[in-house]
Amino acid sequence: MLSKLFIKTPFWAKLIFNRLTWHIESDEKTLYLTFDDGPIPGVTELVLDTLKVYNAKATFFCIGENIEKHPKIFKRILSEGHQIGNHTQNHLNAREVDTDTYMENFISCEQTIKKHLPSTQVDLPKLFRPPYGRTTFKTRNRILNRGYKMIMWDVLSADYMEELPPEACLNNVLHNTSNGSIIVFHDSLKAKKNLIYTLMGTLAHFTKKGYVFKSINPT
Ligand SMILES: [Zn+2]
Repeated sequence: MLSKLFIKTPFWAKLIFNRLTWHIESDEKTLYLTFDDGPIPGVTELVLDTLKVYNAKATFFCIGENIEKHPKIFKRILSEGHQIGNHTQNHLNAREVDTDTYMENFISCEQTIKKHLPSTQVDLPKLFRPPYGRTTFKTRNRILNRGYKMIMWDVLSADYMEELPPEACLNNVLHNTSNGSIIVFHDSLKAKKNLIYTLMGTLAHFTKKGYVFKSINPT
């Protein structure tokens, strides 16, 4: 479906894939920061420290194998009041594997998340973001039928594009964000160069304009 070529998701994609969540309507000035592909030591913690300065809450779409490797960072995300979501166990592309393989990997991530949730948290947050934004008709149906919200985005920072200077990533966000936007960042080693600069700039700019940053509610 949608490739990550669009910084601002075009309206037609939102219309065609209208069962997916692209932005969240809000009366208040609210933005939804999201971070894909962690938890990663040396990156996710920096993100958490930065969010804390602005009292911002966010949503982290975690890769199951990274949760297994870095469970303490996963727990820290939750203990600081952020939300987490499924991003498959091994970052699979739905267009490159068959449906059963994809769903097994999705469920494997679901089990990893369940295993590492704090004992006080009984409900599994049913949020999913497909790696590369790629889904198929069958995977969309199966995942939505399991009661998940499929969280896409309307603004890409493109922080993972190492050839871009950080100023360009920040401009991507500043020029395309509006009330209710879901913005994508990556807490990955590849994105680190652009991530923190872009995140700090985004938080400073929109805080000054009276926005608050919330995590995505799974229910
Ligand atoms: Zn990803």
